[in-house]
Amino acid sequence: MILLNVLRVIMVKNKITEAGRPADSRQVAGAKIEADNLMEEASEVFDSCIKCGMCKSLCPVFKVLKEEQVSPRGKAIILSDKIMDKILFECTFCKGCERNCPLDIKICDGVKKAREAMVLRGKGLKSNEEMMENIRKYGTPFGKGDKKDLEKLYCC
Ligand code: SF4
Ligand code: SF4
Repeated sequence: MILLNVLRVIMVKNKITEAGRPADSRQVAGAKIEADNLMEEASEVFDSCIKCGMCKSLCPVFKVLKEEQVSPRGKAIILSDKIMDKILFECTFCKGCERNCPLDIKICDGVKKAREAMVLRGKGLKSNEEMMENIRKYGTPFGKGDKKDLEKLYCC
């Protein structure tokens, strides 16, 4: 479902409809409104954070990168100040931060909405766009490759 949503927003961003025709100005305007609404919803989540930091120790991204800006609290501080950055894409959506939050704040949902808004605004990750392009062209996120290699990757 998430993959379909990402594909949909990338298509709108690239002004392509699902039928393969160029998107009209109403669709582009609709995408802008949708992005604004998503960003507003995300800001509501981040603005309710009291910055206590109880979530930090449970964040796997913070454990690896050891940078305050990628911790759940860091994301809330930076995003509530409306500064958009690649930190939005440094979240695994594990929801670990929700376990310790005294206010039951869903940082993960906020990041998801803000990330979708970024894609609608044409500020998504290049690697994600390449992956979607590969799926369209080759039916696999890995792109053109030896079929035998792909079978190995899918094997479990
Ligand atoms: S959902 Fe994102 S911010 Fe929260 S703990 Fe997981 S990686 Fe960190
Ligand atoms: S998300 Fe919750 S636990 Fe984390 S800093 Fe904000 S209020 Fe504290």
